[in-house]
This record gives sequence, structure tokens and C-alpha cells, in this order.
Amino acid sequence: MRSKIVAGNWKMNNDLAGTETLITALKEEIQKPTVEVMIAPAFTNLYSAFEALKDSAIEVIAQNMHFAENGAYTGEVSATMLKSVGVKTVILGHSERRAYFAETDETLAKKVKTVLENDMRTIFCFGEELEDRKADKYFDVVESQIKNALFDLDAEAWKSIVLAYEPVWAIGTGETASPEQAQEVHAFVRKVIADKYGDEVAQGVSILYGGSVKPGNAVEIFSKEDVDGGLIGGAALNAGDFKAIVEAL
Ligand code: PGA
Repeated sequence: MRSKIVAGNWKMNNDLAGTETLITALKEEIQKPTVEVMIAPAFTNLYSAFEALKDSAIEVIAQNMHFAENGAYTGEVSATMLKSVGVKTVILGHSERRAYFAETDETLAKKVKTVLENDMRTIFCFGEELEDRKADKYFDVVESQIKNALFDLDAEAWKSIVLAYEPVWAIGTGETASPEQAQEVHAFVRKVIADKYGDEVAQGVSILYGGSVKPGNAVEIFSKEDVDGGLIGGAALNAGDFKAIVEAL
């Protein structure tokens, strides 16, 4: 059975006080979830979030990390640093990182390697842009994103990988992929993985959908066979909405 996961990507939102307020509300709203629940606050607030959520069912995760263990990388944060504040899971390859911070499949492959060397887990994001979708090239795009960053891994490593399909045209736009569009890509990716690693690995990988998931559309999206949960942006900043999405899974 694959893990079912709802993860909130807070992006560059909430200072220390805002983080504490939202966490207080989340602890109140989400007490005994039946699925895995995660939140990804900003780096500066990870430690206080971890302390506040120590005894709860909500895991604190990071939005990014560097591939090097340490060194002259001004402004960056390493796996060791994240682990020292309680983080065991990191989001990698978000489309905003790819678009605004020049992340490539090559740098992401290195980051994934570092995640595994540190016994961490990643939520690895991939997804096509609007032009790729319009030109019917989205299968090729997602296949190369997955292959370039993840196909050097051995089968065992896939136990530490969660995938998140996030079509760029659906992120923060209010335009969600239809449940059928999400299912189509999730099933395709599972097949790409099965062709290389076999059915057992492919069936064991959780594939989340992300892009304008809201309480009003979550049930329908999560009802699809190959959708194992969601990576939630905007709606994760409201405790009531996030709770409703967790309960939709
Ligand atoms: P959104 O963001 O839910 O605000 O569209 C999703 C994401 O970027 O992870």
C-alpha cells in the first residue's frame, strides 16, 4: 500500500509569528489524521515549527536544500543543517525553483543523491509548462524530467522518493488540472517507472498532485486511482482549508 500524503508548501509566506499562529490553528484542526500530513515553512521558521509540532502528527519538511554537505555556498542550506532542526523530508525541483533559481535536472539529480546519502526523503516535483501542454508534448517533458533526475537510482532508493506532479500552468493560477488530466499523467509516470524498475517499485511510489488544489476540488482529484495525495500551496496557508483537503484524501 502506498503512503497517502497531503503536504503544505508555504513558499515564502509567514514570518515567525505568522508561523506560530498557523501552527496553533493546524494543531487544533488536525489531530488524528488518517493520512501523512506535512508542512513546509520557510527555513528561518523550521526549528520553531519542529518544536511546536513535536508531539503532533504533522511533519515539518523543507522547501529546498543544497547538494553539497557544507562549504562556500553563500545563502544555501545543507542536509546536515536541516536534519539538525528535525527535518527528514525535503521538497526538490519545485517549478518555482526551476524557473527563478535555475535548477536543472542535473542539479536536482545531485540533490536527490544527497537526500539519499543523508537517509532523508524527498518530494520530487515535476510538471510541464503551458506551451508543452498545448503542443501535446507533456508526456515527453515529464518523462525526461523523471529520467534525468531519478533514473540513476537503484530500486531500493525509490522507497525514499515521493513524486509530485505539478503542471506549471495550474500552480497559483486557480486553474486546476482536471482529475482526468492528473490521472493520465500519474498513470503514465507510473508506467515509465515500471518499465525501468518493475511493477513493485512503480506501485510503491506515492504520486501527489499539486496545482490549485482547494477544498472544493480535492475530493474529485484524490478519487483518482493513481493520485496518492496533494502538494498544496495557497490553500495550505489557511488551517480550515488545509484540514478540509487532508480530510478529502
Ligand atoms: P498552489 O501551489 O496550490 O497555490 O497552486 C501548489 C504548489 O506550488 O506546490
